[in-house]
Amino acid sequence: METSLNSDTRQFMIMNFTASKSSSLEKLDYFLSKNITKYENGRNFDFGPQNQRIVSCLSPYITHRVLSEYDIIKKVISMNTSKNSEKFVQEIFWRIYWRGWLETHSEVWTDFVKETVSLDCEENYNRAVNGETKIDFFNSWVKELKNENYLHNHTRMWFASIWIFTLKLPWQLGAAFFLKHLLDGDSASNTLSWRWVAGLHTKGKNYLAKKWNIEKFSNIAVKNIRLNETAKPLFNNKTYPFKLPECITNAYNKNKILLIFDNELNNSNPKINFSDYKQIFLLILDNSKRQIELDCKVLQFKRSLQLDFQERLKNSKIINHPFLENICKSTDEIDVLYPFIGENYDYLNKLKKSFGTNFNIIYNEQDLYCWKFANKGYFNFKKNSDTILNQIG
Ligand SMILES: Cc1cc2nc3c(=O)[nH]c(=O)nc-3n(C[C@H](O)[C@H](O)[C@H](O)COP(=O)(O)OP(=O)(O)OC[C@H]3O[C@@H](n4cnc5c(N)ncnc54)[C@H](O)[C@@H]3O)c2cc1C
Repeated sequence: METSLNSDTRQFMIMNFTASKSSSLEKLDYFLSKNITKYENGRNFDFGPQNQRIVSCLSPYITHRVLSEYDIIKKVISMNTSKNSEKFVQEIFWRIYWRGWLETHSEVWTDFVKETVSLDCEENYNRAVNGETKIDFFNSWVKELKNENYLHNHTRMWFASIWIFTLKLPWQLGAAFFLKHLLDGDSASNTLSWRWVAGLHTKGKNYLAKKWNIEKFSNIAVKNIRLNETAKPLFNNKTYPFKLPECITNAYNKNKILLIFDNELNNSNPKINFSDYKQIFLLILDNSKRQIELDCKVLQFKRSLQLDFQERLKNSKIINHPFLENICKSTDEIDVLYPFIGENYDYLNKLKKSFGTNFNIIYNEQDLYCWKFANKGYFNFKKNSDTILNQIG
């Protein structure tokens, strides 16, 4: 059946994000067998959602940890094609780096949320998010983001740069707009990529979308539009010190309750015997508990992935927050798979404050190992990639 599909049909399937572990594995296999060798040279081209793309489109599954970064890297390396796959592994390392950086500089998230909710959405903002600016290709990216809930990486970079430097809108509102609509919306990769484009991550160095670059890597002709190609980076004199997570126990409590959020949908932590738990609760925050609202298609994607996970995890039950809040009233301690800096962790902290419940946070040891290298920039992190690869096996 596979060979009878032409590349357009296949591309459609790649862009069709079916919410199940089996489709994520199918996508991974397809990418590894057909596209990984073209990835290094082809990854920056984006001719729109209806055309061939070389990238893997795995991010919605990686963000929910249906696929783990480490398992993908191991699989790629086991194929023994290092020359062809190096660039792809490096991109996965970007994700691990961003996660590690946010975990060790968590105040960046707190500030981002505080600033976002305090900003007013003015006329220019409304024009941008409704796809009604004077830049027609920007408007079609807005449409694509809302329809497909995905944008190619290069397009995300152009989008963010035009948002910040040509449309002169606050980066925080752009990042919140992406989080709302992306199936792969991730507190670390998203917030930090926007800061990187703005010139706040690598201080003094911003990313500027340029006419020649857009025209070279897409089928867009930039006509009658003057992009701001010389803008200065944004500046913020606040510094965020590096700090590793505290209170790491990593021990699990047999026969008690385990809570799993939507961004750790797997039962592969080797330190835990999941069948020891009397009950495993699966929770997705709905918009009433979020500070940054999600689009209903994104919430639906999360719910379907959660349902797919529940079918694979016998003693699990899908719950909502009133249910969990009741449990907290009568339970001293609940084990939780660490849900990372972001909305889920903020919610846990609020529960702790309201009900005094102790959450025994269980980390993934591979994450902890990697995060300690995220103390500087990506290129410094990458220098440690061999050490990391040895550790993750
Ligand atoms: C402004 C902006 C916002 C972004 N927001 C998110 C987000 O919310 N969630 C998210 O997962 N990624 C985000 N990215 C990173 C990147 O655009 C996506 O990970 C990538 O486009 C996903 O498509 P793919 O799976 O086909 O990537 P591929 O090119 O096939 O890469 C494979 C995997 O590597 C990781 N990866 C690749 N490039 C990057 C990168 N630059 N940074 C971090 N990880 C990367 C992803 O997990 C991706 O699935 C953002 C980038 C920008 C510039």
